[in-house]
Amino acid sequence: MTVSLDDALVAAVTAAVDSRMPGARVDLARLVSHRSVANPAIEPAEECRAAAADVAAMVRAVGFEEVEAIETPDGSVAVVGRSAGPAGAPTVLFYTHHDVVPAGDLDAWDSSPWELTDREGRWYARGSADCKGNFVASMIALEAVREVLGEWPVTVKVVVEGSEEQSSGGMEKLARSRPDLVAADAILLADTGNIELGLPTLTTSLRGTGSVIVTVRTMDHPAHSGMYGGAAPDALQALLMALASLRDANGETTIDGLAHDGVWDGAAYDVERFRGDAAVVDGVEPLTGADGGTVGDLLWARPAATVLAIDVPPIAQVTAAVQGTARAVVNLRVPPSMRAADAQQLLVAHLERHTPWGRVEVRPVSLGQGLRLATDGPAYAAMNRAMRTAFGTDPVTTGQGGSIPLATALAELHPDAEILLLGVEEPACRIHGPNESVDPGELRRTAIAQALFVCELAGVAAARTP
Ligand SMILES: [Zn+2]
Repeated sequence: MTVSLDDALVAAVTAAVDSRMPGARVDLARLVSHRSVANPAIEPAEECRAAAADVAAMVRAVGFEEVEAIETPDGSVAVVGRSAGPAGAPTVLFYTHHDVVPAGDLDAWDSSPWELTDREGRWYARGSADCKGNFVASMIALEAVREVLGEWPVTVKVVVEGSEEQSSGGMEKLARSRPDLVAADAILLADTGNIELGLPTLTTSLRGTGSVIVTVRTMDHPAHSGMYGGAAPDALQALLMALASLRDANGETTIDGLAHDGVWDGAAYDVERFRGDAAVVDGVEPLTGADGGTVGDLLWARPAATVLAIDVPPIAQVTAAVQGTARAVVNLRVPPSMRAADAQQLLVAHLERHTPWGRVEVRPVSLGQGLRLATDGPAYAAMNRAMRTAFGTDPVTTGQGGSIPLATALAELHPDAEILLLGVEEPACRIHGPNESVDPGELRRTAIAQALFVCELAGVAAARTP
């Protein structure tokens, strides 16, 4: 079934968003000037408070009736707003965050991370995409809807959290203590984006995670390799042998009892594009697993074990010694079809079994369940139509490597809510890196899509269609 949006409505919404783009740049420039890293050891706490105050003022200016700045248990400030729509209308929640990751090495930036700078048609600054750009896109979308229709045709909620990048769980705790704040029929988590510039993308699959620290002990202290090497039970060697058993030569993760034959059914991730995105060097191939496997399979449909760190003597401090103790952190990513807790237990058992000698201790350190989002509800259908209209091309679905604990919490708190992950980001944004930027055209298209989505979900488009 194809439903086309009313042409006049589309034209009016597009014009309303277009007229706001100069203002969007002004708003974004002001927002990125706040160095809102939610870690006082890196940037002063006033910066986060200023960002929250700015966000609250913008939410009020857009027309929200009730606006609150709430301190979350981790000390950050979440801005929440609500505006009641017509009786019986659905509720749409717009979520994003106003904190950012640190600027990092300032010398790696071509312009100040805290000053929105135009270069080759893009706007550069820390947070220009992740996530202040997403916030601005949602705000101009809501303004456009109000301008065109005179009111919001749905109940609208907004949540702009202040510590998303810290993984300190402030917003998750707030949501769990006040589930009413995040109760909605449709939740737009605007903290992701498109797999290619101009290709509208909904993220429908989030991997879970289950990391462990593995410690191997064999001797009370290192032993001289000349005197003892050979017979000495080398803790580092034992650890390396256990770690080597986690992957095979195709790149498949081979944990005893853990399936690795999943098939990704969303948009394909082209090998060459992956090579570029991951900066794989010449002469090295991306890993696609056993026969017929794809990048998408290994990223989103199969478990992936990665050794994140090993405690070993650095080369600069080399001595001729056999190590008596060695430790490593192993990160396991698990597709949402698997229970992360089970996969983590299998990893623990595997490391214990495959360490050839020594006392092995494997300690779980983090756990997060993956999430597969529903694609058969009215909000998903409305967003598909809205994106197709705004971008002029069919939307695709993708997966994401990291779990989003808030998304998992929202799915638990409000199992009937449809959660849609989208946003202004695309690979050239280089979020979290130096020279983060946003494409204003993508911000504009994302805003138009969100505005049309609200109209679609409320049935306004259908009502206006003759
Ligand atoms: Zn983000």
